Amino acid sequence: MKNIIIFGAPGSGKGTYSDEIVSRYGMGHISTGDVLRAEIKNGTELGKLAKGLIDKGQLIPDDVMVNILAKVYDEKVPGKGVIFDGFPRTITQAEALKNMLADRHHELGNMIELIVDEETLMSRLLNRAKEQGRADDNEETIKARFQVYHNQTEPLAEWFEKEGIRHTFTWKGDKDTMLKEIFAFLDTQQ
Ligand code: AMP
Repeated sequence: MKNIIIFGAPGSGKGTYSDEIVSRYGMGHISTGDVLRAEIKNGTELGKLAKGLIDKGQLIPDDVMVNILAKVYDEKVPGKGVIFDGFPRTITQAEALKNMLADRHHELGNMIELIVDEETLMSRLLNRAKEQGRADDNEETIKARFQVYHNQTEPLAEWFEKEGIRHTFTWKGDKDTMLKEIFAFLDTQQ
């Protein structure tokens, strides 16, 4: 399977659909948010830096993220196909990802964009706050994350468009429909 970049606003379902894709196609999965949360839990220097920024809904600096990504990617049986979840979030990260893969003679693959209306996003995130207790799932931080997404990450959709690998899927009210559409596309990409 080709690499996949799963792309969308906070709460759009990147983690959920990544898990579904991983179990259907048996790919590697890199969630940069999960990597950072593990560093926080282990109390590392990186974790300390990350915590301050994540709690404010801000992004971790690009150079830090690019280094982490390359390290984790090389551990994930490269060549098998990896799903990038939460990376890239800036144009600089996208360029770095493209170069990192080119250095290894691997392709970017496909970008899967999840489009979900903001009301649904907010209610999902507030719900997740109750269920999982993520520190950054409170109303104030969620608003900051939406702002960061609109300003720094959303413009990247155009970058993927220019690469010719942007594939958009729009939420129509149920997960099964969304999943069916994503699988129908990915089945053609083996
Ligand atoms: P996520 O689990 O993907 O929602 O990420 C949670 C938080 O981790 C984000 O709000 C950012 O603060 C940080 N983060 C995760 N991935 C990145 C990235 N690629 N670049 C910068 N910050 C990131």
